Amino acid sequence: MTKILVVEDETTLAETLTDNLTDEGYEVFSAVDGENALSMIRAKMPDLVVLDVMLPILDGLSVCRIVRKDPTISHIPIIMLTARGAEVDKIVGLESGADDYMVKPFGLGEFLARVRAMLRRMPGRTATPNELISQDLRVDLAGRRVFRGAQELQLSHKEFDLLSELMRNQGAVLSRDLILTKVWGYEFFGDKRTVDVHVRWLREKIEDDPSSPQRIVTVRGVGYRFES
Ligand code: CA
Repeated sequence: MTKILVVEDETTLAETLTDNLTDEGYEVFSAVDGENALSMIRAKMPDLVVLDVMLPILDGLSVCRIVRKDPTISHIPIIMLTARGAEVDKIVGLESGADDYMVKPFGLGEFLARVRAMLRRMPGRTATPNELISQDLRVDLAGRRVFRGAQELQLSHKEFDLLSELMRNQGAVLSRDLILTKVWGYEFFGDKRTVDVHVRWLREKIEDDPSSPQRIVTVRGVGYRFES
């Protein structure tokens, strides 16, 4: 699940943002001051931080600078929330290292759209040479390893190739013929049901309920699609 940390000391706004992000299906954590924010970022490793500028103890701009200097967390995208005025200039000048900013008051629709856009831009969340990611599933292509959350899954050679092929084409339907060609190669003379059998095995490893798959869905009469 995509994790978002909301750092905002104004309780009403914090609750509104948290509730709406939760409704969108994100796992949301919150922090109410800058120091708390830094420890939460290190502990939870969120996929995105929504960071208010005016915060007690340590302000948002300082938090942002500290994050950018720490190589273990510097990759995490940050959307800054700010009041109109001089703060905006500092953020826009990217002095802080923020990836995006929103000036209060802003509409929730706009906010959620910016969050989605930022998550799409995240390196690793789209197909990159080394890693494929979908929700809590992570495929390390170079190391040929698959993780679900922190847990490593044991996949056979062909299961790994099949999962990688499906995840590389998230959202697109792949026919059994295409899968056979890509995963088993042109020289394969076996039955198309080979694909079905391997999909079934994969589902047992990556689906919460293999009998009602949410990740690898069957497209009747055609093939399979990995849900994006
Ligand atoms: Ca504030």
